[in-house]
Amino acid sequence: MNEIDVEEEWGILIGGEHVYTENHYDIVDPNTTEVIGHAPEATSDHALQAAAAAKEALTSWKALTMEERCEIIGRAADAIELACGDWVGLVQAETGATIKIARTMQVAGAFIDRFRYYSRPHEMSQPLPPVYSAASALAPESLITGNVLRQPAGVVACITPYNFPLVNVAGKIAPALAMGNTVVIKPAPQDPLAIIKLGEILNDVFPPGVVNVLVGSKPEIGAALVETKDVNMVSFTGSSGVGAKIMEAGGKTMKRLLMELGGKGALIMTEDCNVEAAVGGIASVWGFHSGQICTAPTRVICHRDVYEPTIQALKVVSEFMTVGDAREETTLVGPVITESHRDRVETFIQSGINDGAEVIVGGERPERDGFFIAPTLLAGCTPDMHVVKEEAFGPVVVVMPHDGDDHAVELANNSDYGLFSYVYAGNTTRAYEIGQKLESGNVALNSIAPHMYAPFGGFKMSGIGRDRGRWGLEAYSEIQAINWPS
Ligand code: NAD
Repeated sequence: MNEIDVEEEWGILIGGEHVYTENHYDIVDPNTTEVIGHAPEATSDHALQAAAAAKEALTSWKALTMEERCEIIGRAADAIELACGDWVGLVQAETGATIKIARTMQVAGAFIDRFRYYSRPHEMSQPLPPVYSAASALAPESLITGNVLRQPAGVVACITPYNFPLVNVAGKIAPALAMGNTVVIKPAPQDPLAIIKLGEILNDVFPPGVVNVLVGSKPEIGAALVETKDVNMVSFTGSSGVGAKIMEAGGKTMKRLLMELGGKGALIMTEDCNVEAAVGGIASVWGFHSGQICTAPTRVICHRDVYEPTIQALKVVSEFMTVGDAREETTLVGPVITESHRDRVETFIQSGINDGAEVIVGGERPERDGFFIAPTLLAGCTPDMHVVKEEAFGPVVVVMPHDGDDHAVELANNSDYGLFSYVYAGNTTRAYEIGQKLESGNVALNSIAPHMYAPFGGFKMSGIGRDRGRWGLEAYSEIQAINWPS
């Protein structure tokens, strides 16, 4: 693991050039509260320059075949894989991830897999069957046939959240580039340094202007990308509140939008489910990355017959969720990203207590220097409580009892969110019956494991559109139908 040089100079990337900004802001390690670097403070003008550079690079990039573009993405994957082992310490310091998460998920796994997956060309056109067209004032009688093509959307602004910086960016730019778009990456302000490193590698592989990177602490940079006509599409992952602002601002220039937003995952347990398996599933995500994961099953909807045993079992497993220094191999729950986020989650927990929820475990601040929150379990919750309705994005799980499958579905769907939900039932048929009634973009049955190439995205306030797999390519494209007489 490489040492971090606090005084290292970091630049943004515009049109193939590294630009060193006049102003900087501090990046803080949430584990220690120490400053680990000074990130560049880009301005709205930089955002407009990056969008213009991406627009200029678009014509020649989209003129390549998908095979040619995918070959370059494959070379990028090779170069990233060679370099990124050295980024683990940096990513851990800026995100607060535990060693295991940093090594196996932040700087590996999906981060590399996305580039590999989209280095394989896909056939995107689809023939139209011939249809009879009667003679009219417009044209003589004929059979009309055609083809449906997928054209790139254009310049894509990729605006991402802080929780998995590299994975979030890779998941957007790999399909966008394969489809023939050029990109401007705007990572979250809290942990952008590894993205700058990624940009340096990509700049050596892609033609200038195809990949641009902007970093700054203020929302103005992202907002400028959303407003400018040079950007055709915004691919946003983040909170539903910011997503709504982007939709509103992007409407003026008719932006194409891919919105991957917040979640408040329901996990339904029937009376005949395997309680141990369900508790194991909840426990493995409860403190995972300190609860900063949009797909976590944080709303447990448990049949009254297994309600008490479930709470007792969750209490027992919580004792094994060691909170501590993210650099120690034994730590399972590290810090959350910032002091202000820690304060927000604490206020959230307090609101549940004020509303009458019972604290089964947690609820108190661990005595440590970093931004830590103890895994917290709130029972006796009711659907109207803020802690049940809103996303915590911290290690907080709420539990509610239900009286049968229909009641469970009603409680699960009583949410503004609909990203990822889970059903644990005595058999797959029953779990499937319940699962397909849930207003949720993704549902896992008797497991918390996602299908990595399933279309991913949300119902309701959890988003618009789907990414991953072939759906990822479609998301970054315009549909074009071409027809002719056969
Ligand atoms: P956030 O919404 O605060 O910020 C996300 C990004 O938007 C950042 O880069 C930020 O700088 C930028 N931004 C802020 N205001 C903007 C504006 N007016 N115009 C343009 N850009 C703007 O989110 P966060 O705190 O970084 O991440 C946590 C949220 O992300 C949670 O709600 C979580 O559920 C969600 N999330 C969703 C998914 C998913 O796939 N659905 C994945 C990860 C995280």
